[in-house]
Amino acid sequence: MTASRVLVLNSGSSSVKYQLLDMADRSRLAMGLVERIGEETSRLVHEPLAGPGAEAGRRERLGPIADHEAALKAVAAELAADGTGLDSPELAAVGHRVVHGGTRFTQPTVIDDEVLAEIRSLIPLAPLHNPANVTGIEVARSLRADLPQVAVFDTAFHSTMPEHVARYAIDAATADKYAIRRYGFHGTSHAYVSRATAALLGKPVEDVNVIVLHLGNGASASAVRGGVCVETSMGLTPLEGLVMGTRSGDLDPAVVFHLARVGGLSVDEIDSLLNKKSGLLGLCGDNDMREVQRRADGGDPAARLALAAYVHRLKKYIGAYTAVLGRVDAVVFTAGVGENAAAVREAAVAGLEELGLALDLEANAVRSGEPRLVSPEYARVAVAVVPTDEELEIATQAYALVTQ
Ligand code: AMP
Repeated sequence: MTASRVLVLNSGSSSVKYQLLDMADRSRLAMGLVERIGEETSRLVHEPLAGPGAEAGRRERLGPIADHEAALKAVAAELAADGTGLDSPELAAVGHRVVHGGTRFTQPTVIDDEVLAEIRSLIPLAPLHNPANVTGIEVARSLRADLPQVAVFDTAFHSTMPEHVARYAIDAATADKYAIRRYGFHGTSHAYVSRATAALLGKPVEDVNVIVLHLGNGASASAVRGGVCVETSMGLTPLEGLVMGTRSGDLDPAVVFHLARVGGLSVDEIDSLLNKKSGLLGLCGDNDMREVQRRADGGDPAARLALAAYVHRLKKYIGAYTAVLGRVDAVVFTAGVGENAAAVREAAVAGLEELGLALDLEANAVRSGEPRLVSPEYARVAVAVVPTDEELEIATQAYALVTQ
């Protein structure tokens, strides 16, 4: 029997999301999450989807789960109850989402002690994310030592950005000393969606230039030339770029000095303000696009302003990345907002006819979980909606590495 299953783990600071995939047919056997780890009200939801456990149905467990080790053990028990436990000989690898790979990791990497130590050494660059990723890896290794563990980095797809794009125009020695440069994030999504868009257009990925707009709670844009990322909107951290649910995106760095000097805010307070209380939330008090749209439709001025600011930033990036790429074959929308908010797509593309963009309003209004074109045939630049699938991409990369 060939081992063809991959368990994908996405360990956050207080949650673990997971999916079990079978790479023989790219099907999903199970998915689930553990949330509020470390609290009294922890919750595990496990959903077998296919294979031996499918009969058992969705299960939910409430009650304290103390830490990531307990959480992963609980996940392992659920999988074992389905007959797809970590000890299964059909399991080929565990694929871990790791947020920051620095300049060291530009490819998916099989994890050994040295790799784990390097991921740990990158914690100062991603203090909110890498510690949980490291814990997830440690626990998974302890549960089954002989199983290959593969790290798939959110930054890796962007490592092809040319040096003059990745560099900030600051003192070079200072930048080098503190590893300050643009890394970019959501890389597995940008990689998956740019490839899927080429497939949708029926062209080899090498021949296609696309602008990917990943619009979820976090949001980022990328310019991808022939399958290679040449520019992306997030930078040293996932704060730069587009207006997001709770993050400001681009702003004059002097805002930070002003808040410190005039406002008397500490660095941590400013960090929290810009990452957690800005973006749509900061502008109108809601970070969920559905609620912002509902309020804007009802004439709420703050929600209308927030929506207008969000769309304006998107337009700026579409324009900028058109200039970066020279020729654009498709602009593609993905993630929660990009896949579902037809009005946001319509507003972002409106008025860009001179850039070759046009929308088929009827096609744009159709709800679907499938990759699809929402532009008329005559449009020089296609507009597409492609649902992202970061778990499938992580599993694909991890499986390719362990079976090569
Ligand atoms: P993600 O991070 O990709 O899961 O995206 C989550 C975000 O997508 C949510 O915060 C919502 O703002 C947005 N979203 C999800 N469904 C819709 C919808 N039907 N219309 C507008 N926005 C949506």
